[in-house]
Amino acid sequence: MTEVRTRFAPSPTGFMHLGGVRTALYNYLYAKKMGGKFILRIEDTDQNRIVDGAVDVIYDTLRGCGMEWDEGPDVGGNFGPYVQSDRKNMYLPYALELVEKGAAYYCFCTQEELDARRAAAEAKGEVFKYDKHCLNLSKEEIQAKLDAGLPYVIRLNCPNEGESSYDDVVFGHISFPNSDLDDMVLIKADGMPTYNFANVIDDHLMGITHVMRGMEYLSSTPKYNLLYNAFGWEIPTYVHLTTVMRDAQHKLSKRDGDAYYSDFIDKGYLKEALINYLALVGWNPGDDREFFTMDELVEAFDIKRLNTSPGIFDVTKLTWMNAQYISKMDFEAYLEMATPWFDKVLAGKNMDYRRLAELMQGRTEVFNRIPDMVAFLAEMPEYGLDLYFHKKMKCDEAVAKENLTLMLPVIEGINDWTEENLHDTVMAAIAESGKKNGAVLWPLRIAVSGLANTPGGAFEIMYLLGREETLCRLHAAMEKLG
Ligand code: GLU
Repeated sequence: MTEVRTRFAPSPTGFMHLGGVRTALYNYLYAKKMGGKFILRIEDTDQNRIVDGAVDVIYDTLRGCGMEWDEGPDVGGNFGPYVQSDRKNMYLPYALELVEKGAAYYCFCTQEELDARRAAAEAKGEVFKYDKHCLNLSKEEIQAKLDAGLPYVIRLNCPNEGESSYDDVVFGHISFPNSDLDDMVLIKADGMPTYNFANVIDDHLMGITHVMRGMEYLSSTPKYNLLYNAFGWEIPTYVHLTTVMRDAQHKLSKRDGDAYYSDFIDKGYLKEALINYLALVGWNPGDDREFFTMDELVEAFDIKRLNTSPGIFDVTKLTWMNAQYISKMDFEAYLEMATPWFDKVLAGKNMDYRRLAELMQGRTEVFNRIPDMVAFLAEMPEYGLDLYFHKKMKCDEAVAKENLTLMLPVIEGINDWTEENLHDTVMAAIAESGKKNGAVLWPLRIAVSGLANTPGGAFEIMYLLGREETLCRLHAAMEKLG
């Protein structure tokens, strides 16, 4: 059996779209599953779109997620170079071979001429496609124009009649009327190949067996097949992937800040959770498993289980999954990741982050939610006295006042400010007073946090705040209670 060779072929735009990360992932998983090779190729033939540092974004994203490539620009391989602009001189001879065979032709139409013809077609309500104007130039006419140094492109000569069809692993038998095909440009006036040409030449030369890419290429694929056939090359297996959508109607969009991998990483989603979730947007393992490490994904992956309906990227589901990953992550790693988020509101407060992290880990869904959750430790929030009311704890404003009055001197008497000491001293005082625990601890928590829902209870919060701040808050609470 031939070795499976897949490729991820991004254009370096500066960002990695989540759909692109998923395409890379499926290519990676399939290659690894089949014991084959995963190849990274940088498609930068559109020099206008080049962005500094964009290739590093691609490297960092893939590597960060654990998708190491077997061949690629920086790691080399037998089929390099792996950057299209470094291959730019390789394409023209192939285009000329097609011209020789009558499968492609020189076109000297200028942009102005094309624009005028496009406008005329559009005025008649027609969709413009190149009208094969230059197909009929004689050999002599072509030579004369070339000799005169006129700029030219090379176009594919597509049939106008009949149908083109192929089989796609995801979408099955696909057929398009040839009248839809336009004589696409293979080599541009600047001598560079178009994506449409380069991808075929490169996929062939790099021995790609499975072309896995976004479904926006479904309708161009018949043209690529014309190229393979004209060269007499074997057509690869096509695996077109459905679009990653925000919901049934909308694509993920840059504008909504939900399209790029970095958007989610910056917000504090874990790579592992994102990869796990993305794998399931468009593929299913055939059972109800939801949690996968990369190795488990490799093991379970099967291109026959790629979905034909668009994958909905449900942020709520991702967030749930992220919370599960965070709760299970190594504590030291959590502490390290949480620290800059704690710092956003607690920097300079000399707070015990380690203890705070213990209280926060099980409650963190996404790291960027941490500052809001811990802000009460930096500054006492506004709260209403009705917060003291709690039926089950048998507490209301009057009870709060009575019990806090009782506890204030007890707490003021504590000098060794450890959580344990706070706990033992206050609990002993409650026992002595004959009060119910809840009726004391509930108002105590409200008085020092201003919140009904906090990471940790009264003791943890008092400990984190420190003696001075705790007493200051308790005094303010007494004053508020009148
Ligand atoms: N450079 C193309 C893109 O980024 C790749 C398409 C393909 O995989 O063939 O969309």
